[in-house]
Amino acid sequence: MTDERFRLPPEVHEALTRLGRAGHEAFIVGGCVRDTLMGRPVSDYDMMTSATPDETAAAFADCRIIETGMKHGTVTVILSGRPLEITTYRTDGAYSDGRHPDEVSFTSSLREDLARRDFTVNAMAYHPDVGLVDRFGGLVDLDRKVIRCVGDPRRRFSEDALRILRALRFASVLSFRIDGETFAAASELRENLRFVSAERVYAELSKLLRGGYAEKILLPSQMILAEAAAPLASYDADAWAAAARRVSRVPRDGAPRYAALFWWLPEGEAARAAELLKIDGRTRNAVLDALRLRDVPLPENDAEARELLRRGGADAARTALLVRLADGDSDALDALRLVWGVLSRGEPYNLRMLAVSGRDLMEAGIPAGKSLGNTLERLLDGVIAGRLPNEKDALLRAANPASERSV
Ligand code: ATP
Ligand code: MG
Repeated sequence: MTDERFRLPPEVHEALTRLGRAGHEAFIVGGCVRDTLMGRPVSDYDMMTSATPDETAAAFADCRIIETGMKHGTVTVILSGRPLEITTYRTDGAYSDGRHPDEVSFTSSLREDLARRDFTVNAMAYHPDVGLVDRFGGLVDLDRKVIRCVGDPRRRFSEDALRILRALRFASVLSFRIDGETFAAASELRENLRFVSAERVYAELSKLLRGGYAEKILLPSQMILAEAAAPLASYDADAWAAAARRVSRVPRDGAPRYAALFWWLPEGEAARAAELLKIDGRTRNAVLDALRLRDVPLPENDAEARELLRRGGADAARTALLVRLADGDSDALDALRLVWGVLSRGEPYNLRMLAVSGRDLMEAGIPAGKSLGNTLERLLDGVIAGRLPNEKDALLRAANPASERSV
């Protein structure tokens, strides 16, 4: 029954064997099965078992065990240094708040556990002696590249609205399409997304935006995403199609992808979208800083490139130019080359990079205060424009021509 495609790490194999010897069923399940069948690298192995959490713990009595998930049936076992999550077969009770199952109950039925999983391609299990367990047509959907709910999509999305975004996310990341009935239910029940925490939405959306099918999946999904980030509803159809295209044309990182998505929102609306999604501070600042450079003239020489970097910082300048390029402004490419040139030559473009500091100026006799700041900015003007070398003595002389003369 062993399937050649599955080369289980020895610790995973050992865990399955131990549970089997103790008289329990055990399988690997979910993402690791799906990714193996697709020939994709597996990030982590989730395991499921008929053993209760206590029985699982007993089977690994000689290992370090982390019990934090016991209530939901998950025991983390550290086997030869590798953490393994082993979860008792369970059925999720009703989701009266649309967010969390009110209770989970353990079951001895493998099928019942697979039935609670979100999509057919995520509801397959494997054991080397048993082979693949596929009760909901996951393999056929994998071959056809389809994301389809296990069971009735309306019911499944009503139980947990995060699954709506997970459907979009898996389709984008795996380059799958979404089954018609599943997508119709996702669209219809999109309002339930308001019950889902911003953190979970943001995590799924970030993966969706980075996926290879992001453009294809975003196109029909404007109103679903607007449920999570209301300002996105303000794009008209053409603007939305352009946003989807931009997203797919910038590097697969958080800041450029979110900047591409928010690009033509008014600044306040973009800030509101970032807030609604609880985008982490660093990414949010990078996105909003880049948006502020939407309309600035493109640099045409090194000095102007340094000026742009001064104004926005390196991340924002690069991100803004990449999005402008993705938005169809082909002149942004030359600007991007200039900016990269400045950065790779290590040329100074902000006060921190200037060869003199405020302290240096004070030691040279310039009094502290506002004029000191102005003097530093003036020196930076000169360095950026190429009128002054970025050298301490030359800058001190330029800062204080009077004292120079008096020597
Ligand atoms: P990834 O590569 O992103 O980790 P994954 O399939 O492993 O993909 P996880 O979020 O780690 O996804 O979840 C593991 C498995 O648990 C899924 O494959 C699926 O079977 C099940 N699952 C996770 N979240 C849900 C959910 N909200 N509703 C139903 N089943 C879920
Ligand atoms: Mg996983």
